[in-house]
Amino acid sequence: MAAKQTEKEEDWGYDLYPERRGKSLPLIPSVSELLFGGGQHTSDKLKCEQRVVDVVTKQPLVRLFLDALRSSGCPIDIKRHIVCENCDVSVTGGYDPKMNQIVVCQNTCRSDSYVTGAIVHELVHMFDYCVNKLDFKNLDHLACTEIRAANLAHCSYVSAMLEGSIAAPAVKAQHAFCVQQKAYESVRNARRSVSHEEALAAVERVFSRCYNDLEPVGRRLRRGTKDVQLACEEGFLLGYT
Ligand SMILES: [Zn+2]
Repeated sequence: MAAKQTEKEEDWGYDLYPERRGKSLPLIPSVSELLFGGGQHTSDKLKCEQRVVDVVTKQPLVRLFLDALRSSGCPIDIKRHIVCENCDVSVTGGYDPKMNQIVVCQNTCRSDSYVTGAIVHELVHMFDYCVNKLDFKNLDHLACTEIRAANLAHCSYVSAMLEGSIAAPAVKAQHAFCVQQKAYESVRNARRSVSHEEALAAVERVFSRCYNDLEPVGRRLRRGTKDVQLACEEGFLLGYT
């Protein structure tokens, strides 16, 4: 169904990514910036781009997603599909389906952990958009991909879940609650026109199906492999917001 004409760009959170909407800050430093070192934006961008390269080459979970995308017919060219930009301070990353680009927020992702968290989160959206034919305008679809992103990038028990070692019901419930909360917040961020009740109801409607869908991680990481350990012991799984 077509989006309501009345929805404004702000309703979709585009204002969180000013550089997406033609309000970009100059990419080339001015002479005075070069001479007097005032190029904060340029230096943030360079640092961010270096971190992106490091993360993409070194993080097993990121590599796993890139392999999964490639083998599903959606290959990624790092330079083309992952970009560093200035964003609103409330976000660390975003996915732009129109451009099929992941935005890493250079002003808020100032460590490898944050860059990794942002990239993994947005790779889930990219994967769902390409492989699962996600429709961002469908609230249930949006809730589902945010549940999956929270599950794989934010809340800290992915490794335990994959290994089947989360035993205590209380821990399980705590993890599910974490994913639910994060997903709800992301839905509200992405669609401001959606009310508290609508967002909550959408997350609840699709929760069990999407919470248990660990594709491509669940299928590809085997219990006890080094990949699981490396991918899941990373601090970003705890600290990313
Ligand atoms: Zn998201």
